[in-house]
Amino acid sequence: MQPEAVTPLPAAPLPAAPLRRAGVAVAAAVVLVEALWLLAGLPDAALASDLGAITVASLAATGCASAARRHPTPLRRFWVLLAVTMGLAAAGRTVWAAGRLGSDELPHTALVGGIFTASIITGTAALLCSLSAPRSRVGQARALLDGVIVGLALVPVGWVVVFHDITAADLTDPLHGYGLLYPMLDLMQLTVLVAVAGPTRPVWRPMTLIGVSLAVRSVADVVYVSLVVGGSYAPGHPVDLCWPLSYLLIGVAAVHPPPPTCAGATEIGESPLPPWWRVALPYVPVGGAIVAVVLARRPTGQTPHLIFIGMMTLLGALAMRQGLAANENLRLVARLRQLAYADQLTGLPNRLMFTRRLRRALRDGPPVAVLILDLDGFKQVNDRFGHATGDTLLTSIAGRMRAAVGDDGTVARLGGDEFAVLIDGGRPVAPERLAERLLTALQPSPGEEDVGIHPSASIGIAEYGPQHASHTDLLRDADIAMYAAKAAGKAAYRVCTPALRESAVTRAELIADLRRAVDERQLHLDYQPIVDLATGQVRSAEALVRWRHPRLGLLNPAAFLPLAEETGLVVPLDRWVIHEACRAAATWRQRVPDATVAVNIAAAHLRRPDLIATVTAATAGAGLAPRALTLELTESALIDGSEAVLERLAQLRELGIRIAIDDFGTGYSSLSYLHRIPATELKIDRSFVARLDSDTRAYATVEMVTRLAGAFDLAVVAEGVETEGQHAAVTAIGCVHGQGYRYGRPGALTTLHRTPA
Ligand code: C2E
Ligand code: CA
Ligand code: CA
Repeated sequence: MQPEAVTPLPAAPLPAAPLRRAGVAVAAAVVLVEALWLLAGLPDAALASDLGAITVASLAATGCASAARRHPTPLRRFWVLLAVTMGLAAAGRTVWAAGRLGSDELPHTALVGGIFTASIITGTAALLCSLSAPRSRVGQARALLDGVIVGLALVPVGWVVVFHDITAADLTDPLHGYGLLYPMLDLMQLTVLVAVAGPTRPVWRPMTLIGVSLAVRSVADVVYVSLVVGGSYAPGHPVDLCWPLSYLLIGVAAVHPPPPTCAGATEIGESPLPPWWRVALPYVPVGGAIVAVVLARRPTGQTPHLIFIGMMTLLGALAMRQGLAANENLRLVARLRQLAYADQLTGLPNRLMFTRRLRRALRDGPPVAVLILDLDGFKQVNDRFGHATGDTLLTSIAGRMRAAVGDDGTVARLGGDEFAVLIDGGRPVAPERLAERLLTALQPSPGEEDVGIHPSASIGIAEYGPQHASHTDLLRDADIAMYAAKAAGKAAYRVCTPALRESAVTRAELIADLRRAVDERQLHLDYQPIVDLATGQVRSAEALVRWRHPRLGLLNPAAFLPLAEETGLVVPLDRWVIHEACRAAATWRQRVPDATVAVNIAAAHLRRPDLIATVTAATAGAGLAPRALTLELTESALIDGSEAVLERLAQLRELGIRIAIDDFGTGYSSLSYLHRIPATELKIDRSFVARLDSDTRAYATVEMVTRLAGAFDLAVVAEGVETEGQHAAVTAIGCVHGQGYRYGRPGALTTLHRTPA
């Protein structure tokens, strides 16, 4: 029974479908002829019955072997075992027929019994190899035990039902022994089939056919046993028809194609739960068995031996079944715990686990410290490069954090791009040192920096003290410190101090404050000069928003723009900026007639159809010529631009509005999309300019971008020029404009004309 031995030769010609159907047709015809023969009572019925069964079983064996060759590998073993089963059936029946011809008795020999029992074993093994059968050994053992339990339970039930009137029947007589054995094994197989059919619907057709075949055989075996015990069976009896019929059904099953999917569902949650009755299935007959044992007691009060042994075996099987189930439950509990307490992406402990550990640490008392780490600009990575890249990044960050922290703390992922580290008990590392280690570990390697895929991180630290009532207080403080680190310019860490806690407002409060900020005139604009590098004149400025928060003081965009973007508040904010900048520009142009002003537009705003209306209303309201307004859009906002966005940009250009590609080089750094975007200028990101002094590659990049931009008729603005060296470099390269602290920091518009060039 080595399935490998039957592995087909790849070159073997496949039997054509018509041939397979012909086999089934012949088998059906044989069954039909036999039926007519037996029912009409023609002579030599016994021989006809034997020949019919042998022929149909052989044909079914051939059919299964052919299916084994055609079907995909996972199903091959299944069909091979069924082919062997049918082969054994044919062989057993041949031996039987030979034995019968030689004597008047029914040839219930050990050989016949052995062959038929072997066929039951291979048939059951086949079921356990079917596609929907459990993959694990434990699952298979459980299905098998279900069968054994149900089969054994049948012994006392069968005793009462079939032998009730012959209570003295001698069960050591092989005839009576087999008589109980066959229906018992049939029922066992049927149970295994139900157990492995899987909870998925619809059931694969061949499995149904095999089920019907088993049912037919069960009925036949029961009727046969009753007839034999009652002394009214003779070979060639119409019940004989049932066996070839059951083989025929297997043959029909073998003609079916394999199921469309050969992959089994193995994950928890993927496969639906089995219905309750299927779980209870093996136990129902056990109840019947108990009743039967009571009924089967002889008048003397003794229980027949065989039933006693059967019941004992049944108890053993039940105990094993319970053991397996308990074992499987333990594994499931472990898996569920892993699902509940671990972050599935990174494998780190999740928020639930983290708070549990934190609470335990707080019970043990100080020193306890919490670090909360949040990635800066993770959202942009997700938007630009897609979620798969975002996930890879998170996994890599998790790995780096774990390595950086080592045994000094517990790293967890609280959700999204937020991580935490718990330092507790006997770990004497200073949280600040750990934060420094983390910041160093998260620094991008040179390649990652170039594609802008590796955001920095802001870390907040809170140390447990008497002011903390619970773990939520500690986490809130770490959060406050983390936002303070972000507000201070990111890629930094902050420790939560009493002062910070005092002045800090929670995120929710900040959002609420931001909602009011526009109406309550808390926003204002600073303007940073953009100089003409050839003449040194300032004819343009970029408007940069500032928020004078009533309690927190002056906030830079980094402190509130991410919140504004998350909540959509960035749209009304930008709308206010556009109006305000247009008004300021109109005033400025009274002194400097050709002055222009640039405003930053959030990606969310670009996606809105009312952007055009906002812009035209602002320019018209301020009496500003549209050509005096530049909209700055980041590469990422432009790159995921749909046709509608491109159309909107074209409309803006037609109105005369200028369009700048902001932070160029931090996104795809691909010039290939430039021709699609009707831009007028290109602002080279300050990360390139910053490296101009030292890095020849940066120089070459700025030079190449400037040359290409020229080819596209785009004026280049070099951003973030701070030093003389950078100024000399961008001038030599031929950038048209420069912007940066070298020319002036953002400030009031009225100070601009005094800026040194
Ligand atoms: P951005 O558009 O790249 O603006 C330039 C930023 O670089 C400004 O920061 C500016 O102060 C800073 N900067 C200018 N020259 C130098 C320099 O020489 N060295 C260094 N290190 N930095 C320099 P700011 O004002 O903090 O703005 C940050 C970002 O916030 C802006 O980056 C822009 O993307 C966004 N933003 C500012 N105002 C608005 C606004 O009204 N609406 C929208 N949607 N975004 C805005
Ligand atoms: Ca800008
Ligand atoms: Ca910029």
